[in-house]
Amino acid sequence: MPHRPTSIGAFIAPLDVSTRQGLADIYRDLDRELRGSVAACEACGRCCRLASFGHELWLTEVELSYLLETRGAEAPREPGVCPYMENGACTAREGRALGCRIFFCNMEVEVSERRYGRYLEFIRRLCDERGRPVYYGELLASLSEVAASTSGTRSESSSSNEGPCWKTP
Ligand code: SF4
Ligand code: SF4
Repeated sequence: MPHRPTSIGAFIAPLDVSTRQGLADIYRDLDRELRGSVAACEACGRCCRLASFGHELWLTEVELSYLLETRGAEAPREPGVCPYMENGACTAREGRALGCRIFFCNMEVEVSERRYGRYLEFIRRLCDERGRPVYYGELLASLSEVAASTSGTRSESSSSNEGPCWKTP
């Protein structure tokens, strides 16, 4: 379904220790689960060229904050391409979002989507328990907004509590 990418760059907030640990635990459990699956990646970087691959990468604010605190902010340098991808490899592996961790081009989309829904629910619960709002946004728009805000030229922001939370066509 066509939709306008929305940015959550203006909604990022520092992670307290327990929220940071809670999200790290969720990512750790997911990574363990994936080790026993057919997931395989040759780090060609094609799927991180999001636009040409036909993807939008959506993530929650808490994931974006974790990514920024873990890896640091990067502004998109090329339209539609994740700035954390270098020579085909992800330079933000520790902090990358749920959609990045779950997507494998050799895995059935339905399997990945079910897994995504399950783990997104864990993140929602974590946010609820910590009293943290759940915002969704598209990665590249959000990174551009973060870059604009740190350079003093704020872009218009919008957010969504609905919509796709996955690498979607
Ligand atoms: S998952 Fe992405 S980076 Fe890995 S082999 Fe497939 S297209 Fe390439
Ligand atoms: S954060 Fe890493 S895995 Fe996710 S789109 Fe960017 S380069 Fe790819």
